[in-house]
Amino acid sequence: MLWKKKRLWSPPAPLKTSYDAVVIGGGLHGLATAYFLARNHGMRRVAVIEKRYIGFGGAGRNTAIVRANQRTQENLPLYKEALDLWPVLTRELDFNLMFYNCGNLNLAHSEAALKAMRLQVATAQFHGVESRLVDPQECKELVPALDISDRPRYPIYGGMYHPPGGIIRHDALVWGLAKGAAKHGIHIHQGTEVTGIGVENEKIVSVDTDKGKIHTPRVLNAAGAYAAAVSYQMLRIRLPISVLTIQAMVTQPLKPLLDHVVSSGSYHCYANQTLKGEIATGAHMDSWPNYTNQTTAHYIKHQAEALTEMMPCLKGIKFMRIWGGLADMTPDMAPIMDGNDHVQGYFMDCGWGYFGFKSSTVTGKYMAQFMATGECPEILKPFTLRRFEQHRLMGETAALVNYSPDN
Ligand SMILES: Cc1cc2nc3c(=O)[nH]c(=O)nc-3n(C[C@H](O)[C@H](O)[C@H](O)COP(=O)(O)OP(=O)(O)OC[C@H]3O[C@@H](n4cnc5c(N)ncnc54)[C@H](O)[C@@H]3O)c2cc1C
Repeated sequence: MLWKKKRLWSPPAPLKTSYDAVVIGGGLHGLATAYFLARNHGMRRVAVIEKRYIGFGGAGRNTAIVRANQRTQENLPLYKEALDLWPVLTRELDFNLMFYNCGNLNLAHSEAALKAMRLQVATAQFHGVESRLVDPQECKELVPALDISDRPRYPIYGGMYHPPGGIIRHDALVWGLAKGAAKHGIHIHQGTEVTGIGVENEKIVSVDTDKGKIHTPRVLNAAGAYAAAVSYQMLRIRLPISVLTIQAMVTQPLKPLLDHVVSSGSYHCYANQTLKGEIATGAHMDSWPNYTNQTTAHYIKHQAEALTEMMPCLKGIKFMRIWGGLADMTPDMAPIMDGNDHVQGYFMDCGWGYFGFKSSTVTGKYMAQFMATGECPEILKPFTLRRFEQHRLMGETAALVNYSPDN
């Protein structure tokens, strides 16, 4: 029948009473892990349990920026591999992820910011990630709309240019991964909520949902902003995660004028032009923890001021849409990827804050390896939950606070 041919994936099978693995959360991390469990490890008896619909969380609300110029040696290799995966996945999933390799430009507005960038560029280059410092004139050549005079409140001293980065269509990635996972036999159960996790003799034995109990020896907590609540309420394992709202907006569609992602920590603003012509823009998180997706007038005012200070030609442009999403922030702005440590069969992939879109596919690949083999891949080892009790926090925070709130 015609309607069947048009579906991205087949209608969901009824919830089974037993699976080899259960993934909590139909966001990008959950879907990517499920996809790689089947594709790379032949594990097909896997269920993704999503309480609302796939992409309901940060997966469908982010500003879709991808880049690899992180700050620390633990994070850089992961994000570099993630960037390299986009063209591979586009082919493999047979789905247009709309990767727009426009490059990212982070602006520096002081000598101190330039100094910090120099360090970040050197670390990136050491890890084989293309990144370099540029002077104000080159910033202008890359983004002609920028005001590089001394008129703005924060004049431009230079920037960090990262050509391999860009943007990807976020909902295309959600659909592409869901299609790929379903093709390999993964069951995606939307509108189903995980309400409890069963443990016997310190091993995972089951997952309770509002549609029934599932027997399973493995569960992945990829519940995004709800990961800490799932972990504590269901297993009494505390995660050092605060949940904060991030907002984002788009303007009316414009003729092409911005063909890079441009960001500024001093203005707390980043922007890029989508393939539809809108300027998509975001900034800092709300500074108080909460679980609301509601938006605020002060944010609109802030974005308007920041954008038009940086790029005066945008004065008078209308904002068309604003939305909010939740970020699960750890104290060092690096994620928690862990497993089998606190309870045998309990895996976690959460605490992604600002960065969980760009990292989702590569993380899915390695979390799947971890879950299938029981051995933590080398690249994931620095991201354990125990780093917080051992005072081994990572330095990604400084990368943002100093000069770059760019996603
Ligand atoms: C406005 C905004 C802009 C952003 N911009 C960027 C960006 O440009 N680049 C970038 O890299 N990152 C960005 N991010 C961050 C990124 O979106 C997140 O880090 C990423 O989506 C996290 O993915 P996830 O799969 O871990 O969680 P999510 O996508 O949030 O998925 C978690 C899912 O779990 C489900 N769930 C929760 N509890 C249960 C339960 N009990 N049972 C069943 N299901 C449950 C939720 O409904 C949700 O669908 C941005 C975020 C926001 C909000």
